[in-house]
Amino acid sequence: MTFTAQILTLYPEMFPGPLGTSLAGRALEEGKWACNPIQMRDFATDKHKSVDDTPAGGGAGMVLRADVMASAVDHALGQQPDAPILAMTPRGKPLKQARVRELASGPGVTILCGRFEGFDERIFDARPIEQVSIGDYILSGGEMGALVLLDACIRLLPGVMGASSSGDDESFETGLLEYPQFTRPQKWEGRIIPEVLRSGDHAKIAAWRKQRAEEDTRLRRPDLWEHHRDAPDQSPSGARGQKKEDRS
Ligand code: SAH
Repeated sequence: MTFTAQILTLYPEMFPGPLGTSLAGRALEEGKWACNPIQMRDFATDKHKSVDDTPAGGGAGMVLRADVMASAVDHALGQQPDAPILAMTPRGKPLKQARVRELASGPGVTILCGRFEGFDERIFDARPIEQVSIGDYILSGGEMGALVLLDACIRLLPGVMGASSSGDDESFETGLLEYPQFTRPQKWEGRIIPEVLRSGDHAKIAAWRKQRAEEDTRLRRPDLWEHHRDAPDQSPSGARGQKKEDRS
């Protein structure tokens, strides 16, 4: 099964864009995923092919029309009935690695890219659309968000990353940031790689990495740390369902 990305956009030429290079580009060439950008303007019905109109109630900018969006979404649903439909919007649920994993294990994804002031809200009542945000900042359009989401999914597809295990350790996979990394030269500008990492003692190295992952998460991302402390142990060896002891 090929993971298929359908992207509903006013700028289909933005795809695959950067996803045509490196890891994702090779995977695309090898047929591990498929990229189908769809021009939303093709679903406009008036002679000017308009997809947007002025905001009800007044104000700046333009709003994407629900009727045109619905026709585009219905077309995409017809092409790929099993793929979830996501809309890029800062009003959506923040994208997390857990959702990325779920999406990557499915048949693909249909992504609706906003522009201007965004979508007529009625589209979200009328169609089964998941609203997704990629962070608390405003982009000029949903396309960059779609590229981010797709990149995060594609690297998880079978056979895309060199060593398939290299994904398991990353930041967020365990609810923590990853431990810091180092490589040669051992001494650089007077700074030396932590002694333990050169010890060859795998148990000690693992303990050091765990401690640094926890400490850095606590200091840099108190939001993640709080959640991690309260959540059931996610480590493979951990007793699921048990609360962690308080380490603070
Ligand atoms: N008026 C809107 C912002 C529109 S920005 C608001 O204040 O909520 C134009 C489009 O860019 C949006 O429709 C959306 O598709 C995309 N976009 C902007 N910021 C985004 C974000 N943080 N996450 C996902 N999509 C975003």
